[in-house]
Amino acid sequence: MATTDLTACEIRDAVRRREMSAAEATEASLAAIAALDPKIKAFLAIDADGARRRAADIDRRIAAGENVGLLAGVPVAVKDVLCTANGLPTTCGSKILQNWKAPYNAHVIERLLAEGAVIVGKTNMDEFAMGSSTENSAYFTTRNPWDLERVPGGSSGGSAAAVAARMVPLALGSDTGGSIRQPAALCNVVGLKPTYGRVSRYGLVAFASSLDQIGPFARTVRDAALLLQATAGEDPRDSTCVLNKDQPVPDYLDKLDEPVAPLRIGVPREFFGAGLDPEVEKAVRAALAAYEKQGATLVEIGLPHSTEYAIATYYIVATSEASSNLARYDGVHYGYRSSDHTDMIDMYMRSRAQGFGDEVKRRIMLGTYALSAGYYDAYYKNALRVRRLIRSDFEQAFEKVDCIMGPTTPTPAFRMGEKTADPLSMYLSDVYTVSANLAAIAGVSVPCGFTAAGLPVGLQILSGVFTEDRLLRIARMYEREVDWASRVPPTVAEVRP
Ligand code: GLN
Repeated sequence: MATTDLTACEIRDAVRRREMSAAEATEASLAAIAALDPKIKAFLAIDADGARRRAADIDRRIAAGENVGLLAGVPVAVKDVLCTANGLPTTCGSKILQNWKAPYNAHVIERLLAEGAVIVGKTNMDEFAMGSSTENSAYFTTRNPWDLERVPGGSSGGSAAAVAARMVPLALGSDTGGSIRQPAALCNVVGLKPTYGRVSRYGLVAFASSLDQIGPFARTVRDAALLLQATAGEDPRDSTCVLNKDQPVPDYLDKLDEPVAPLRIGVPREFFGAGLDPEVEKAVRAALAAYEKQGATLVEIGLPHSTEYAIATYYIVATSEASSNLARYDGVHYGYRSSDHTDMIDMYMRSRAQGFGDEVKRRIMLGTYALSAGYYDAYYKNALRVRRLIRSDFEQAFEKVDCIMGPTTPTPAFRMGEKTADPLSMYLSDVYTVSANLAAIAGVSVPCGFTAAGLPVGLQILSGVFTEDRLLRIARMYEREVDWASRVPPTVAEVRP
């Protein structure tokens, strides 16, 4: 077994017991990146020197008998939408922030450092987290480790691919409409979107502030719980982040192996309708059967607003907020400035025209339109009303069931280029994920099998606000029965001795 096959918990325990050094764990991760990333292209920037210095420091502190935290010596990759003051740029996958260096660390980065993690690099993403394939990155497209001709999903595709290809055991992503769960599903890893307000968004470059949430990628449920543990909790710098006194952060690892019983699983009719790939459906139904075998009851439920209107609602709310959040990139405050302008207004216009990619421009235009005086009531205001209905769908469902299960995505990983000419078909790959963000609830995608062609399938489990502890236990019940995560992607197997 390679060092990079170890889970984060195993690495952490070995480092604490001084059976392995943080330096060894870091070198193994850097070597895997050197061997695999030229093919997979998960990273926008690698911080080999910084990671080595950091690992040496952790080893020194452990030798001195210090407690270095929950993630002692564990290599972690972070999506390039998170501000890091480590000297690497924070680009958000955009040309407009090409060489921009954040002057401070995001809250979650501070948490990682406080818990002894070794940050090895920043991962590729769709520009400003807008997309489902990483094809909207201004730099390059990340490839799916299970099939290099296919996308890893997005927008956190780099983080998902880095974990799937065993370059790191843990990564952080952000999820505004599915950007953690969708790539997790397409790459055979665990990806969790916490409840809105569980994790501070301070230092997360904003896409749609009322939907954005940071969450973990890992190969096991336990590792995802560990990274959530390290990052969750109050932060006065994000006023939407809940106070610990109102919502204490539970111990996510303590009872993880205790099954939830009795367990009532809501199975929404709407999640198994037209557009669902038959192989995805088969794998998800098999997972549901595995829960039934453990004594769970399946309850058919309806989420009438949550599939039919979710995409439309999401693309009004998200683009409206994005049009406002992205107004700050003007060629003055941050990043790229055009060099061929005539006056100041022309400089704004050219900087934005040259700095943003097509999808970002499309969304700024859509959002500006939806918020404009004549159309505000018809679009934005109505979208907020429907958002409320979607939330009620879930509230009503959670009175009857403990969680909701279905496919994470309608299809397995698609081919690069397959959907780039048709934004609407790209948007539809999030049909099952966006409603959790609109409702602010927690959700996770766990590996649940492969298609005949060897492409991963994800099972999405949703649960009510601030029930991540139970959600993780439910996910663990399945993982313990059926272990898909130990399969090694062919690209990784190839480079092994
Ligand atoms: N794919 C969705 C979008 O393009 C979700 C993105 C996200 O969660 N950041 O907006």
